[in-house]
Amino acid sequence: MSKNRFLNLSQKQLTDGFNNSSIPITMKEILNYPKNEIIFNFPVKLSNNELQIFKGYRIQHNDILGPFKGGIRFHHEVHLDEVKALASLMTIKCALQDIPFGGAKGGIKINPREYNKIDLELITRGYTRAINNYIGPSYDIPAPDVGTNSQIMDWIMDEYNLINNNHVKSIITGKSPICGGSLGRKEATGRGVGVILNELVNKLERKTIKLEGFGNVGYHLIEYLNNINNTTDKLFIVNTFSDHTGCYKINYKNENKSTISKMIVSLLDYQTRNNSLENIETIYENIEKIDRDSYLSIRSDIFIPAALELSIDKKEALLLNCDIILEGSNGPLTSEGEEILNSKNIKILPDILCNSGGVVVSYFEWIQNKTNEKWTREKVLEKLDNKMIECYNKINNNDTNLRIECYKYSVEKIYEIYSLKKSYFFN
Ligand code: NAD
Repeated sequence: MSKNRFLNLSQKQLTDGFNNSSIPITMKEILNYPKNEIIFNFPVKLSNNELQIFKGYRIQHNDILGPFKGGIRFHHEVHLDEVKALASLMTIKCALQDIPFGGAKGGIKINPREYNKIDLELITRGYTRAINNYIGPSYDIPAPDVGTNSQIMDWIMDEYNLINNNHVKSIITGKSPICGGSLGRKEATGRGVGVILNELVNKLERKTIKLEGFGNVGYHLIEYLNNINNTTDKLFIVNTFSDHTGCYKINYKNENKSTISKMIVSLLDYQTRNNSLENIETIYENIEKIDRDSYLSIRSDIFIPAALELSIDKKEALLLNCDIILEGSNGPLTSEGEEILNSKNIKILPDILCNSGGVVVSYFEWIQNKTNEKWTREKVLEKLDNKMIECYNKINNNDTNLRIECYKYSVEKIYEIYSLKKSYFFN
C-alpha cells in the first residue's frame, strides 16, 4: 500500500468540502499543509541494557481555532504521511464540534506489544523529552490514540512536569482519573459512536452489527450498546467482530435480550483479561473463527470499522452486505471503496462526526484541569451525549453526503475565523 494513500484521501475529502462551498482557494492551500512537521530519532536504554533508537513524530496541522490537539499513536506502521493525514482530520473534527482547538497528531513507530511495561515507560519518557519544546497546555495538548492509553498519558504528564519544574495537568488529556483525567474519557469515543447510532435507529428496532477492531473504541461502543439493549426496546445484536488476530462470527441459539446481553458481557470480559480476541473461539462454542471474506459478506445491518485506516478498499466494499456504516476509526474507507459503497446506497456516517466523542471529552478534561474542578461521570456523559446529538442534527440531511456536509461546515467556519483574524491573506 502506497504510504501517502491516506494523506491523498484526507486531501481529497478536504477538496470535496471546498468544492461544495464558495471559499477562496487560498484557504484550501493553507489547510493542505500542516503548520509544523516535527520528526525526531531518540535513543532509549532499555531494561535489558540495550540501546535502541526510536522514530517519533508530532505534526501540528492548524491552530486558528485554538491550541493544537490530537492523539499519540504507538504502532509499527506509523509514518509521516499517516500522521499528517490524522492531524488534518483533527483540525476538521474540532471545527465540526465547535471546540476551541486546532488539529495535531503524533506517534512512535513501534509495536507496543513487543515491549514490557518498564520499557514502554522508558520509551514514552524519551518521546516526551523529544517533544517537550513543542507542546504546552495552551499550545499543543496531546491525547491517546491507537496503541496508547491513560497510563502512557500519566507518564507523559509526569515527564513534562519533571523537565519544566511544574505541576500542570492540562498538558495532556486522557490521563487516569486519579491523576487528573476526566471521568468518562476512556469510554467517550466508543460511546459517542453509540450515541449517533442510537439517534439513527428508531424505537423497537432490531439491528445486527459487524464490528471491526475491539480496542478502546470498539470495546466501549459494544458496552454502550449493551446498555441501550438493557434499558430500551431496541436490540443491537453483534453477529460478527474482528481484531488483529482474526475475524469471528457468533451463532446465537436464540436472540432474546438476555442471551445477547450475556454474550456481549462475555466478549468484554475476554478482551479485558487477554487484551486481544485470540483463541476466543476455543472458549465459547457458539463463536466461530472465519476468514475475512466471509466476515465481510455475512449480512449485518450496520458495519462499524474501529481499527485502522484504509481497511475497506474496492474488494472489501464489494463484499460488504450492510445498510449503514458508522466510521469509528479514522479514514477506514478508501476513495474507491467509498464510491462502491455509495453505488450500493449504503449510508455513511463519517469519522469526523462519529469518533469526535474522544476529543469532546478531552476538551472537558482540559477545562476541568484549567479550573481545578472534577466533574461527575454523569455530568461528563450527559454533556457528551448532548454534544454528539447536537452535532449530528446540525449536519444531518437525508438527501446529502454527510461527509461533504461535515467538511463544508468545518471549512466555512475556519475560513470565517481566518478572514477576521488574518484578513491580509484574503485581500
Ligand atoms: P486501540 O489500539 O485501542 O484498538 C485498535 C483495535 O484495532 C485493536 O482491537 C486491534 O486488534 C484492532 N486491529 C488492528 N489491526 C486490525 C485488523 N487488521 N483487523 C481488525 N482489527 C484490527 O485503538 P483505538 O483507540 O480503539 O482506535 C481505533 C480507531 O479509532 C483509530 O482509527 C483511532 O485513530 C480512532 N480514534 C480513537 C480515539 C480514541 O479516543 N481512542 C478517538 C478518535 C478516533
